[in-house]
Amino acid sequence: MNIDGNGRVAGNPLCLDFANLPYRPGDPRPHGGSWPQLIDFMAEKRIVSGEKSEELRTLPESDPRAAETLFLQAERLGDAMRYAFAAMLKNQRVHREWVEPINEILRVTEGHDELEWHGDRWRLGFLAKEEGLEWLLAAIARSGAELVAEGAASRLRRCSNANCHMLFYDDSRTHRRRWCSMAHCGNRSKVAAFARRHTIEKAGAHHA
Ligand SMILES: [Zn+2]
Repeated sequence: MNIDGNGRVAGNPLCLDFANLPYRPGDPRPHGGSWPQLIDFMAEKRIVSGEKSEELRTLPESDPRAAETLFLQAERLGDAMRYAFAAMLKNQRVHREWVEPINEILRVTEGHDELEWHGDRWRLGFLAKEEGLEWLLAAIARSGAELVAEGAASRLRRCSNANCHMLFYDDSRTHRRRWCSMAHCGNRSKVAAFARRHTIEKAGAHHA
């Protein structure tokens, strides 16, 4: 398991990469983000083509209301999923108000499923009928809905590194993965545990 250059956990479903989007300190919007960040994410995840993403980048100038509506919907969806996932991690009930923003997107997006080749395997993807801009969030909402529907049996996890806390999907054979990435957080934690042990041993030796 690895973290790529964009800070994404390898193998994560779309909804978790979306929920993990970093927010900038001091930015009052929990989703963090800026319009370019949202568009970058959609381009990276191939929700939009390169051409379409360039067009969307200038939407705040060409159609500020449409851009703001989409941005607020994306924020609402991100917040709702973060609340829902946090509740699932604590084995608590996922409230209807957190599910509603997901359902809202699902409701307005017409489309169909299609198998898509993802470099190494076929995945079931959602092809939305392109009408409103909401369709841009359809695949993220659908992915979030699937995870919520997995419920208590879900392999949703949060990284054990207190400084990381990234959400990931545990697809390991043992289902006991603790870190978003062994290289990123697992090793760091092992090094810290070793240092702690070493200090205790040294202190013990001193007493003797
Ligand atoms: Zn981590």
